[in-house]
Amino acid sequence: MIRSLRGMNDILPPDNARFEYFLDTAASVAKRYGFTYIETPLLEETALFKRSVGESSDIVGKEMYQFTDKGDNDVCLRPEGTAGVVRAFVQNKLDRAGGIHRYFYHGPMFRYERPQKGRLREFHQFGCESFGVQSVYEDVTIIMMIADILGALGIGYRLKLNSLGDHNCMPQYREKLVGFLDAHEAHLCEDCLRRKATNPIRVLDCKNERCQIIYKKAPKLINNLCESCNSDFDTLKHLLEENGIVYEIDTHLVRGLDYYSKTAFEFVSDDIGAQSAIAGGGRYDRLVEFLDGRATPAVGFAIGIERLLELIAMPEASREGYYMGAMDTESLPQIMQLAKQKRMTQNVIVEYSPKSLKAHLKGADRIHARYCVVIGENERTEGKVWVKDLEAKTEAVIEAEAL
Ligand SMILES: [Zn+2]
Ligand SMILES: [Zn+2]
Repeated sequence: MIRSLRGMNDILPPDNARFEYFLDTAASVAKRYGFTYIETPLLEETALFKRSVGESSDIVGKEMYQFTDKGDNDVCLRPEGTAGVVRAFVQNKLDRAGGIHRYFYHGPMFRYERPQKGRLREFHQFGCESFGVQSVYEDVTIIMMIADILGALGIGYRLKLNSLGDHNCMPQYREKLVGFLDAHEAHLCEDCLRRKATNPIRVLDCKNERCQIIYKKAPKLINNLCESCNSDFDTLKHLLEENGIVYEIDTHLVRGLDYYSKTAFEFVSDDIGAQSAIAGGGRYDRLVEFLDGRATPAVGFAIGIERLLELIAMPEASREGYYMGAMDTESLPQIMQLAKQKRMTQNVIVEYSPKSLKAHLKGADRIHARYCVVIGENERTEGKVWVKDLEAKTEAVIEAEAL
C-alpha cells in the first residue's frame, strides 16, 4: 500500500468541515476589511526565499524542499506565503502603480522539519498582506482583523507585542546588544554564539533557559527606539486599548531580518501546548525594496490553520437540505427527476437502494437532512410524494409538483 509522505496529512471528516469553516470565516472577515484574494505558485525560484526569508534562518538553511528541475532551475516549494505575494506585487509593477493594495491568500506551505504534534511538513496557512500604508493605524486594523477572525471561531488568545525599530534605531541597538553579548560570551549557547555573528537579534528568542536568564539583563529595543518608532508604538498600544484588545509586551519577540520594522506581534493560545503561536506578523517596510521593487510600506500576518482546527467552536449544525429515496426500483426515475429539479436551489442527497420508509428516515437523520422525501408504489401511480419535515416533525403526502 502506498502511504502519504511523512508529515503530510489528508484532511478528512470531521476536520474537513472545520478546515472549510475556518477558510470561509477568515476570508469573509478579510473581505470586510478590503482584502481581495491572491493566488501565487507553490513552486518558486529558491533565490526568492534566500533573499526574503534569509539564508541564516532555519527555514531556508535546513527546511526547504529544494531541488533542480528538468530545466536546471534551482526551485523550491514555498515554505511561507509572504515572499510569493511580494514577488507578484513587484513583478506586476503594482509598486509603481502607487495606491493601496490588500491581499489575502491561503494554501499549503512546505517545510522539511521533524514531524511532531502540531508540526507538519505540509501545512496550511491563511495570510494577509497590505501594501502602501505607512500609518500605524493599518497595523492596528490588521490586529483587530485577526481578533475578529479568532473571535468568530470562538478561539481564545493572548496577544504579544513588540517594536523592532527601523533603519534609524535598529543598527545602534544591534551594536549595543552585541556589546552585551561580548561581555557574556562565556555563558552563551552555541546557537547564540553563531547568531551573534550572523543575526544577533535572534539570540533574544533562544530556547535555552540559561541564555534566557542572561538576556533578562540585555538592553531592550523598546527602550532604544528613535522618536518615530517610539511614537508609533505608543499610538499602537493606545489604539489597541481603545478598541478593547488586551496585549502584553514581549521584548524577546523578534524576527531578526532587516526588512522587518516597527510592529511585531504574535497571537498565542494556551490551549494547545508548547507549539502555542497561532498567528504572527508585523510590519515589513523594506521587503519590497529587498525584492527589487520601489520602496513600499507593508504590513501582514499569517495564521497556521492545522494548529487551530481543534480550537474551533463549530456552530451548531442545523438540519438542511433534502434526502430522497424510493421504496421500489420502479420509483427511482421519479426520484431522480425530483432531485434534479430541487438541486437548482437546494442540497439534495439521493439514496439509490430501494428501502422501507423507516430505513429512509434513518438515512435522512444520519445526514442531518431537513426533509425526507420518499416515493413508493402508491405515490408513483398517483404522481405524489411522501415528505416529512424532520425539524417540524410533520409529514404529508403531496403532489410531486408541489414539492
Ligand atoms: Zn542561546
Ligand atoms: Zn526607529
